[in-house]
Amino acid sequence: MLDKVVIANRGEIALRILRACKELGIKTVAVHSTADRELKHVLLADESICIGNAPAQESYLNVPSIISAAEVSDAVAIHPGYGFLAENAEFAEQVENSGFIFIGPTAETIRLMGDKVSAIEAMKKAGVPCVPGSDGPLGDDEAKNISIAKRIGYPVIIKASGGGGGRGMRVVREEKELIQSIAMTRAEAKAAFNNDIVYMEKFLENPRHIEVQVMADGQGSAIHFGERDCSMQRRHQKVVEEAPAPGVTEEMRRFIGERCCRACVEINYRGAGTFEFLFENGEFYFIEMNTRIQVEHPVTEMVTGVDLIKEQLRVAAGQPLSFTQEEIKIRGHAIECRINAEDPKSFIPSPGKIKRFHAPGGLGVRWDSHIYTDYSVPPNYDSMVGKLICYGESRDVAIARMKHALNEIVVEGIKTNINLHKEIMADENFQFGGANIHYLEKKLGLQ
Ligand code: ADP
Repeated sequence: MLDKVVIANRGEIALRILRACKELGIKTVAVHSTADRELKHVLLADESICIGNAPAQESYLNVPSIISAAEVSDAVAIHPGYGFLAENAEFAEQVENSGFIFIGPTAETIRLMGDKVSAIEAMKKAGVPCVPGSDGPLGDDEAKNISIAKRIGYPVIIKASGGGGGRGMRVVREEKELIQSIAMTRAEAKAAFNNDIVYMEKFLENPRHIEVQVMADGQGSAIHFGERDCSMQRRHQKVVEEAPAPGVTEEMRRFIGERCCRACVEINYRGAGTFEFLFENGEFYFIEMNTRIQVEHPVTEMVTGVDLIKEQLRVAAGQPLSFTQEEIKIRGHAIECRINAEDPKSFIPSPGKIKRFHAPGGLGVRWDSHIYTDYSVPPNYDSMVGKLICYGESRDVAIARMKHALNEIVVEGIKTNINLHKEIMADENFQFGGANIHYLEKKLGLQ
């Protein structure tokens, strides 16, 4: 097993990684900014090192500082968590070139999957279903682009190959807008991502967001853990996630899961990963792969009983996967609510001191969070302060538990979105299951 790991992240995921390390007897090094001295995992880690000022650029994105911290603490590996440097191929490369294990895939795989055109090409080769599209970058030949759009059928969406975070795309509904839209997306992509490669896809009007969790050992084996439905979104940000996805049958799960595993083997994938799909009329369409652990991984853990972070650590230590595909069984249902420190109306972040806090509890209730009474949420980072995950033998039981857990939780001193979650849990269409990615924004009157 790994001897000592640097946790290059903050907040709930840093605490989550620390807990997994403790269970495996791995020593931990918390690296943190000056704003994060009081973070729970910093106080619980075997060692802690301040790596810079509060702005992420000077700390959590400061590659030399993080690598120096690994050097001075004699760590063997670095866990990037999610966000920050987790999908940064240069970081992964520098970590490995400095003699440490990067807990994630190789830099080469991150690069391949980080570029959407090359990712789609690799997925097609492996038999993963993709959105009908231009099959590669768009050139400058206007007549050709018009004919590609005609073949796909309007509406189409122009997307930046280097895009991310829901930026760098434009929907085109009519032929007369096409050429200008391509030029505009190209210019924006060049400015935002320093990469002017764009491609075209069929625009799906009312899809759901369904994603498949995988784990691969980098030595030719890969297994999947079924799917999650993350359709409850606002501004492309997931708000509620669940596993399994309502309406996805065992047969569909096996079909898509097997293809994802095959793709992992073909691209020589290592570690935890997620294949994101749009799902419409019973069909899956690949949109992108996240080459890291995701915020919503706990719902998969609850329905499979597998600790995905421990599995990441084992794979990083060079061990084979501890499960076979046959051993992975989906049981019951799990829902996660992301609790954010934000204004319930404007959604503007609401940092500040937590004056009173009570955690929810009881059978099937999991609370992954770093907050406590008197903890001050700094203004510098993401507004998520905790994840409330409820498990039940059925989806109805999971919803019932989530309702009472949301009533039990007390967070005073900062504004939160807890009431929004109560509204979602009480919503008839959510309760029915299978709402699409526009549902929440429509309900909130934002669309
Ligand atoms: P990013 O890396 O920026 O998150 P994605 O390719 O994952 O980009 O797309 C982000 C979101 O944009 C999707 O979740 C979906 O809401 C929308 N989207 C992307 N491609 C399509 C498409 N072909 N049809 C409909 N919506 C799409």
